[in-house]
Amino acid sequence: MPQAVTAAEIEAAIRNVPDFPKPGIQFKDITPVLADPRLFAGAIDLLTENFSPGSIDAVVGIDARGFIFAAAAATKLNAGFIPIRKKGKLPHSTHEQDYALEYGHATVAIHTDALRSGARVLLIDDLLATGGTAGAAAALLQKLGANIREIVFLIELKFLDGRKQLKNFPVRSLVVY
Ligand code: AMP
Repeated sequence: MPQAVTAAEIEAAIRNVPDFPKPGIQFKDITPVLADPRLFAGAIDLLTENFSPGSIDAVVGIDARGFIFAAAAATKLNAGFIPIRKKGKLPHSTHEQDYALEYGHATVAIHTDALRSGARVLLIDDLLATGGTAGAAAALLQKLGANIREIVFLIELKFLDGRKQLKNFPVRSLVVY
């Protein structure tokens, strides 16, 4: 049996890109993790480790890098995949939720019929920064009556204290900066 992937191996593969997309931002580039089949599969194993197949009804991913991990996690857990997208992208009727950015605001959306009330949901995104995005996503899921079992991130920027936006939920991240 091959060695299980550790969070330290994933951390070693994440590439820091200074000043992208603007000066002062340390962008965490996860593409080297995705390009390595062992690390990608290992990341999915770690993100889903608290659940067995059938114990989750849907894995919800956040636009856009969250989709990559959430879709793979959904097939592993024998669950559906549901996208939360930026405003204006989903074709059918939606609920929308606004959230604050450093400058201005943004809006995320989910289809109104994406989930049944009480559905057991795992919410995944690539990175927790200020928590605005994930907080808005959780608010949309609550509007649909979802039972949010866990919110998981590949990466957490702890100094931005994004967990304060997610106080009511179990939150976990694999790599913390
Ligand atoms: P926030 O709403 O502040 O928690 O930001 C989280 C979202 O922005 C995630 O979907 C990330 O993909 C993206 N993001 C924020 N900061 C970074 C960063 N330093 N590197 C890569 N992605 C980031």
